[in-house]
Amino acid sequence: MNDRERVIIVGAGPVGLSAAIYLASRGLPVTVLEAGPQLGRDLRASTFHPPTLDMLDEYGITEQVIAQGLVAATWQIRDRVAGVVGEFDLGILADETAHPYRVQCEQFKLTRIVYDKLTVYPWAQVIFNSKVTGASQTGDSVRVVTEGPGGSTEAYRGSYLIGADGASSVVRKEIGVEFEGFTYPELFMLISTPFGFADYLPKLASINYFADPKEWLLLLRVPDFWRCLLPASPDRSEEELMSDDSIESCLQKVVKSDEPYEIAHRTLYRVHQRVAAAYRKGRIFLAGDAAHVNNPLGGMGMNGGIHDAFNLAEKIFTVLCKGAAPETLELYERQRRPVAIECIKAQSMDNLAVLNETNSEKRKRQFDEVRRTAADPKRAYEFLMRTSMLSSLRRAAEVG
Ligand SMILES: Cc1cc2nc3c(=O)[nH]c(=O)nc-3n(C[C@H](O)[C@H](O)[C@H](O)COP(=O)(O)OP(=O)(O)OC[C@H]3O[C@@H](n4cnc5c(N)ncnc54)[C@H](O)[C@@H]3O)c2cc1C
Repeated sequence: MNDRERVIIVGAGPVGLSAAIYLASRGLPVTVLEAGPQLGRDLRASTFHPPTLDMLDEYGITEQVIAQGLVAATWQIRDRVAGVVGEFDLGILADETAHPYRVQCEQFKLTRIVYDKLTVYPWAQVIFNSKVTGASQTGDSVRVVTEGPGGSTEAYRGSYLIGADGASSVVRKEIGVEFEGFTYPELFMLISTPFGFADYLPKLASINYFADPKEWLLLLRVPDFWRCLLPASPDRSEEELMSDDSIESCLQKVVKSDEPYEIAHRTLYRVHQRVAAAYRKGRIFLAGDAAHVNNPLGGMGMNGGIHDAFNLAEKIFTVLCKGAAPETLELYERQRRPVAIECIKAQSMDNLAVLNETNSEKRKRQFDEVRRTAADPKRAYEFLMRTSMLSSLRRAAEVG
């Protein structure tokens, strides 16, 4: 394989690195350009869905994600006052996936695992401190320009370019693609604490979505902490929202504790629902958060981005190495963009709607529906196929 086939990937997040491992493990030269001085350490995704675990298995990544995370066979929708409304057991998907469970493992652990696997291939480069500032293309190549810490610039050439450079993607701007959608007015607050919630909240699972007309809540377990995700008022300043007092008062409403809570991490996020108007311009593609962002309820952003990465990398590989027609690449947008709109966006908005409904009649109807779904194996199966993203992958595979 000569270097003219080199695929340039912008961004060493979970999506860029997933595309890189697919291509590099099949012998294709890849260059990943990362703006940061090292892999990110942000506390963002922590849920891996079954099909993502299936995809990562081929590279020996899944076993390491499981070893560094925890397996969650069930998850719950709860009412903050009344407790469990419905519990869902992913074991019902045992005939559909080799991993009929979610794994709770922080995203920064995944990127380290994938990065280590990539270093085995001498033809795979990950170059840090390389912020892409420009991207262009000719009929048979792409070119990107990067800026280093001292203002030094470098240029890289390749056959194709994958923009996996996150929500504020420079690549998306360079190809003039709109990021259509909206930004939620409320902020989202993420707090990690070692507090033992399971000792106080009866029957708590490792993944819990709490509905409440005033303040919904997610309580997610990772190996060392519980992560609490809550809405926060945009009318209060960031300093105020992130203060010890404000966080203490949020957590005291979850479980009243005589001791002050120990806080391991705190972050405030602005959350968007946006999908790129196009996923491709010529030889330049968008994947992951560069192509779509959504609210984190349901854990679909990173998972959906990894599904994009494998879908696109497979098509680039077949064109470069298996003689497939370049038109094969058109399928990527046709298969993955509808998933972002009709599955990821729709499901994440439905998830929030169940949690934050204020009308008591509607809340009751929604809870009845959750109970019916949890109690009926056929409905539960369909619901879990959808929420675990297996349906969206099958649907995409049918698009020719
Ligand atoms: C609170 C929270 C919880 C979440 N929970 C979940 C969950 O449980 N499950 C789930 O699936 N998703 C979840 N998500 C979403 C998930 O974190 C994102 O979808 C995921 O990080 C997207 O990965 P990515 O690789 O596309 O982008 P990113 O992770 O943003 O990575 C982009 C990379 O590109 C680099 N970069 C940016 N610009 C440039 C440039 N110009 N040149 C070079 N490099 C550049 C960045 O430094 C970064 O390393 C959550 C998000 C939040 C905020």
